[in-house]
Amino acid sequence: MSQLGWAPLLLAAACALALGFRRYRLAWAALLLAVFDLALQSPEPRAQLAGLRFLPWVLLLAVSLPEGRLLSRRHAALAVFCLLLLGSALDAPEALFYSLSDFLAWPFHSWRPERSAQMFIGLAAGVALARWVWRGSEFELGLCLALLTGLPACRWGGSDVWLSVAALLLMLAILHGSHRMAFADQLTGLPNRRALDETLSRLSGEYALAMIDIDHFKSFNDSHGHDAGDRVLQAVAKLLRRHAGGEAFRFGGEEFCVVYPGRRSQNAMHSLEAARVALESRQIEVKSAGKKGPPRPKQVQVTMSAGLATRSDEKRQAHDVLQAADQALYKAKKAGRNKVINSR
Ligand code: GH3
Ligand code: MG
Ligand code: MG
Repeated sequence: MSQLGWAPLLLAAACALALGFRRYRLAWAALLLAVFDLALQSPEPRAQLAGLRFLPWVLLLAVSLPEGRLLSRRHAALAVFCLLLLGSALDAPEALFYSLSDFLAWPFHSWRPERSAQMFIGLAAGVALARWVWRGSEFELGLCLALLTGLPACRWGGSDVWLSVAALLLMLAILHGSHRMAFADQLTGLPNRRALDETLSRLSGEYALAMIDIDHFKSFNDSHGHDAGDRVLQAVAKLLRRHAGGEAFRFGGEEFCVVYPGRRSQNAMHSLEAARVALESRQIEVKSAGKKGPPRPKQVQVTMSAGLATRSDEKRQAHDVLQAADQALYKAKKAGRNKVINSR
C-alpha cells in the first residue's frame, strides 16, 4: 500500500460508487485510471508503455459511449477489448506488441508516449466537456475535471497525487450530481417537492407559504401542445425565481410553491402580486403545435392564481399552513383566476 500509494484504492472506491449510482461511464473512467496508475507504477517498462499507449485510448472510447445499461453489449465489447489489450501487453510477442501500441496511438504514434497519452485523455475530457455544455449535467463536468487532473499523471512512473485528486473529483461529481437529481426538478431547474418537504420540516418561527397554479393550463396544452406547455412552465419558474420574493419550488404538474421564511413573510403578499402582474404581461415565446403543419414560433401569455398563508397559533405545523394556502388558492380560482388571495 505504501509503495503503491492511495490513487488505486481511491479510484476503486470511485468506481464502486459510480456503479452504485449507475453512472457507468464514470465507473469505466475510474477503473481505467486505476489500471493506468498500476501500469505506470509497474517496474516493467513494457507495462508502463502499455499504460501510456493503450489505456488513454480505451478511456476516450469509454467516455464517448452513450450512458446505457450495465449488462449491455457495448459494455461487454469494451470489457473484452480491455482484456485483449491486457493480454497483448502481458503476453504478445514484442513485434506484435509494438505494432499494436503504434497502431493505437495513431494519429499521434510519432509522438512520445506521454504526449500521445495526454492527447487522448485531453480528447476524452473534451468529450465530457461538450456533453456538459449540451446537457448541463454535473456528472460530465466532474468527469471532465477528473480527466484533466489525470493529464499530469501521464508520465513514466505516474503520479499518485494527481490521480488521487482525480478519484476525489469523480466521487464528488457522483455525490453532488446525484444529490441534485434527487432534489431538483429536471424541467424547470427549481427545487422539487422532496426539497420542499425537507425545507418545510426545518422551518420554525415566522414564515409564509404560497401555492401557485397556472390558469387553464390543460386547455393551453390542448391548443399549443405539450412542448409549448413545458416551455411555459420553464418561463414561469424563471419568473417566480426572480420576482416571487421567496424560495420557489415546483410542487408538481403546473403547481409551484414559494416559501417566505422569517421577515420576508411580511412582504409576501406584495411580492406575489408583483409576480402575478409580471406574468400576465409577459410574452412567452413557444413553438405552438397547430392542428396542421409543423410547430410555429408564437408569443403566448398565461396567468396564475395564488393562495397565501402565514404561520400562526392556529396553523403551527407546516402541513396546516400549506393546506391553508391551498384553500386560498382554491378561492382565487373560484373568484375568477389571475388573483392572489391571502388566507387571513
Ligand atoms: P385551472 O385554471 O383550474 O388550474 O385549470 P387547469 O387546466 O390548469 O387545471 P388542471 O389541473 O385540469 O390541468 C393541469 C394540466 O397541467 C394538466 C396537465 O396536462 C398539465 N401539466 C401537468 N404537468 C405538466 C408538465 O410537466 N408539462 C406540461 N406541458 N403540462 C403539464
Ligand atoms: Mg393544478
Ligand atoms: Mg391550473
